[in-house]
Amino acid sequence: MSEARLWTGGRVFTGRRYVEAVLADQGTVVAAGTETDVRRSAPTGVEVVRLEGRLVLPGLIDAHLHLGDLARFRSGLNVSEVRGLDDLLETIQKWASSHPDGPVVGRGLDVDRSLGGRWPLRGDLDRALADRPLILYHTSGHAAMANGRMLSEAGVDSRPVDELRGRVGKGPDGEPNGLLYEEALRWVAPSLATPVAPEEVVRTLEFLAAFGLTTVASMNVPPEELVELRGLASENRLPVRVRAYVRLLRVAELRPSEIAPAGLSGRFAVVGAKGFTDGAFGPRTAWLSEPYSDASDRDGLAVESDETLAGALKVANELGLAPALHAIGDRAVVRAARLLAPYVRRTGAAARIEHVGLTPPATLSVLETVRPALVVQPGFVWSDFWLPERLGAERVRWAYAFRTLADLGHRLAGSSDAPYDPPDPWRGLRAATERRDPLGRSANPDPREALSCEEAVRLYGVSAGETLGEPSLGSLEAGSRADLIVVDARSLAEAVRVGASAVRDTWVDGARVFSAGGPGPRQSR
Ligand SMILES: [Zn+2]
Repeated sequence: MSEARLWTGGRVFTGRRYVEAVLADQGTVVAAGTETDVRRSAPTGVEVVRLEGRLVLPGLIDAHLHLGDLARFRSGLNVSEVRGLDDLLETIQKWASSHPDGPVVGRGLDVDRSLGGRWPLRGDLDRALADRPLILYHTSGHAAMANGRMLSEAGVDSRPVDELRGRVGKGPDGEPNGLLYEEALRWVAPSLATPVAPEEVVRTLEFLAAFGLTTVASMNVPPEELVELRGLASENRLPVRVRAYVRLLRVAELRPSEIAPAGLSGRFAVVGAKGFTDGAFGPRTAWLSEPYSDASDRDGLAVESDETLAGALKVANELGLAPALHAIGDRAVVRAARLLAPYVRRTGAAARIEHVGLTPPATLSVLETVRPALVVQPGFVWSDFWLPERLGAERVRWAYAFRTLADLGHRLAGSSDAPYDPPDPWRGLRAATERRDPLGRSANPDPREALSCEEAVRLYGVSAGETLGEPSLGSLEAGSRADLIVVDARSLAEAVRVGASAVRDTWVDGARVFSAGGPGPRQSR
């Protein structure tokens, strides 16, 4: 906790309005308003921070990322920037020779951008590395390519044929070609479960604080990782707030004492449980009501049975955990809404659908009756630029339809899904407001779906805070937590245009956790 501090001499966006000054004491916002009014509330000896025309915003919230995977991604083999198959194989060999032990796990493979839409084959990977297990995760996290050694060590080859169907790709010879989808990824996971060092988690959070993030919600957290996060919280080592959503299918392993809220508004709390109802657009596993426009024999995958998901949601609810379901295809969004319906309530952490990729009118009417919170990733509007081919020009008009959803009164929360998309919230803010990326590409360029800068900031602010059941986050009105950022820009529009490099300071509980002038995370960006 900190002493009283007053920010003035620039503009302050509280999340609802613009004011001249904001005062925080003991980690809480005490007043926001005109400089005269705010100074009147200030105790003697208050420290005054001169903004020199800069902008103050509520600290940004990422309502859906994967903290452990992001930490692993940052310290592992990154194949997101490779250009072509030869470059990919060379990158693997180089990394393997400098990391001589254990399986090789690559992340961020963007088949559409890096390899012209063609997956490498098992034989290609065997050429690069045959004597150690190798797996490359698709950038969506919903598919992966494994070499022969990985497939045999995980026993994939020896599974019964009907288990393989739809989950394992086949070559012309009928043998598994190395491609793994959805549930098949879990067959290989045990041999890859590398724990993340606590220092890596802290460094990753420092890296996120440099973007102006002050709260992150980590999804699919396994019970082991909860223990680690709780340890870091009790040692006061979390620079930003972490809200955990445990793996839905593992909730039965949790004891109530492991969930007992660690004090909301603290640095750590277990908020909910998150499961899957379908896959992703990239590998064509998002579950659609009509086949893919570029693969008429496929309409995606429903992940898990309704019985399994409903049973786990019930257990989660009994433990006091808010439910969250991943759903990207329109058919999956309807499925998720029906499964969540018994748990939608007005107070506390919201029942939520993650991604909500495609919402044509029939899906919108189901959402209108159920009204879960919708956790979206504006960055996908740029990343999924190939989506018009997958869905066809007519249907894609309903993809990532933020304006349509907002106008229907749905609560939208902003997030990145990092490491499956870049963690930078400013990229998301810009994609939400401009739709097209700097090269003019977009998953759905329809300008009618663009949000204003203020609306976009609220997605990563008050709206995300309310979704987490903490309305004191993401706002700078009196009574809010003193989580704020100082940005080198005169207006919100300028800040969104400049992006992450404009963040000068990040404050959590009224204490500075990142400074652009200081040493540390800035260099690692
Ligand atoms: Zn995710």
